Amino acid sequence: MRFHVLTIFPAMFDGPLSESIIARAVERGLVEIHLHDIREYATDRHRSVDDYPYGGGYGMVMKPEPIFDAVRSVKSGADLADDTPITLLTPQGTPLTQRIVEQMATNEDIILICGRYEGVDGRVAENLATCEISVGDYVLSGGELAAMIVIDAVTRLIPGAVGSIESTQDDTFSTGLLQFPQYTRPALHEGSEVPEVLLSGNHAEIERWRRRESLRRTALRRPDLLESADLSVEEWEFVEALCEEQD
Ligand code: SAM
Repeated sequence: MRFHVLTIFPAMFDGPLSESIIARAVERGLVEIHLHDIREYATDRHRSVDDYPYGGGYGMVMKPEPIFDAVRSVKSGADLADDTPITLLTPQGTPLTQRIVEQMATNEDIILICGRYEGVDGRVAENLATCEISVGDYVLSGGELAAMIVIDAVTRLIPGAVGSIESTQDDTFSTGLLQFPQYTRPALHEGSEVPEVLLSGNHAEIERWRRRESLRRTALRRPDLLESADLSVEEWEFVEALCEEQD
């Protein structure tokens, strides 16, 4: 899978992409991350990538021409398919979810456009981007961190990127629920014990406990997730009993 990132700050990606799972995925050839400096596509002698907003107001807006030219150049240079997704990172986009990440991970190529300043000229969203993604209801200074979030979340779903792909399958959100609590050694820490069932070696009991804890956490912390979760009748009864306890 190849990520093609358009940014005016390519150096921001150096640290996060050169460590741990992403670095290993790159080394193993599972993903390629190509950084493209939008400024190289500016045509004036100052290499301007921003300009004053029409209609007045504060701040600057990223100009459309360097972004359109950068996308055209990346598409022809890397021989990308016509329907390669072009994702604009913006706080006004569709909130990123694990389902969207899973869908993104099925692509061979993704173009990510990082905005700066007051954002990018509206014609990028209207006439170039195929989707707009937000990484949360808050405003970042630029799209670079948002692009890194997308790259990280997508990369860990690519087979071979994490130790075992199964470990991502019971992650929070992947099952539709929050994950059960995890413990490691020591069994007793500052007076606090690991739940006994986890030491029992009884795998059926452990699975049952984990599922229940997953349901409990979700019901208490993110009840909104339960609406689309796939629960058995018995599990619904368990959740309803928990909710009654809370009232
Ligand atoms: N003035 C814009 C607004 O109110 O919608 C915010 C611009 S923000 C300061 C600059 C850039 O950061 C955006 O163009 C976008 O690329 C990126 N950005 C900020 N918050 C983001 C978020 N929550 N998700 C994705 N990208 C974000």
